[in-house]
Amino acid sequence: MEKRVEIGNTGLRVTPIGFGANTIGAHNLFQDIDEEVSRQTVREVLSAGADFFDSAFMYGLGRSEELIGEILAETGRRSDVVLATKATHIVTDSGIKLDNSPAFLTEAVDIALKRLQTDYIDLFYIHFPDGVTPPDEAVGALKRLKEAGKIRAIGVSNFSMEALKVANKDGYVDVVQDKYSLVYPELERDMIPYCIEQGISFIPYTPLASGLLTGKFTANNPPQDFRKERPHFQGQAYLDTIAKVDSLQGLADKHHVSIANIVLATTLGIDGIDVVIPGAKSPEQVRANMKTLDADLTHEEVEQVRALFK
Ligand code: NAP
Repeated sequence: MEKRVEIGNTGLRVTPIGFGANTIGAHNLFQDIDEEVSRQTVREVLSAGADFFDSAFMYGLGRSEELIGEILAETGRRSDVVLATKATHIVTDSGIKLDNSPAFLTEAVDIALKRLQTDYIDLFYIHFPDGVTPPDEAVGALKRLKEAGKIRAIGVSNFSMEALKVANKDGYVDVVQDKYSLVYPELERDMIPYCIEQGISFIPYTPLASGLLTGKFTANNPPQDFRKERPHFQGQAYLDTIAKVDSLQGLADKHHVSIANIVLATTLGIDGIDVVIPGAKSPEQVRANMKTLDADLTHEEVEQVRALFK
């Protein structure tokens, strides 16, 4: 597998296995987050050779960005990595609000720069559409921030196909991040082909289907947390998927990697996808996911694995 890739046409070059930082300091999303484990996990990303961090304000309400910034400052490694982050959410006494207004995005970038202890963000995403601001106006604000040197590439996330087309009306969108994995390949129909046509890099989130595609869950050992409420973790659909996942063991053995590595390598074999950003709850999972770089799947193997889940 290629050891360095460019994210679309952004000029940003990274190792194709990035790091999804939604567990780092994310007290608002997961129970029992230990910030010392978060720090060790970020240090492990750096020592394992990954160099692409995917954070967001929503991951710990700024804490994920702060901890990444802290470790990069401590290790002096800022210039070795590519930092992506996102904003849209405002936490108020009456709940969470979404904002894509140019004023909000401009301020959000300034605050994220402080938390990350840097003077530029490599890739900044609008995390969710707010349903009010015209998407092209929101992206126009990011274009001005790019011209000002505060961000280097423009991303949008969780946009519908229609909203994406408006957001990219002037061709300014560099990256689209949306939910995609081998078990929910729906975006192969329209969004991924659109991204390929427009020279936009598509970054799938939840590439391991939140752990379902790692091979660690069994019929008698389903997850015990919020995941058990999700459709893919229930009933016959769950049993069918884990049987398919288990059937990848032979291919994993052939390449001397894990089932999770086969799934990530297959995802990287799909046209339009340059990088994956698996999440990890521990330094061990970071190291395990980096072994994907050792999995040199043939085109036929990629297609066989994809066909299994279709
Ligand atoms: P994921 O990558 O599909 O799954 C990650 C989870 O799988 C980990 O938290 C861990 O949970 C388990 N895991 C990871 N590596 C493993 C390994 N080698 N062996 C066994 N288990 C392993 O899903 P995700 O973390 O939700 O998504 C990835 C990233 O995408 C996020 O971190 C975030 O940066 C981004 N994201 C973006 C959005 C958006 O709206 N733009 C939404 C969701 C995610 P357990 O140990 O608890 O099983």
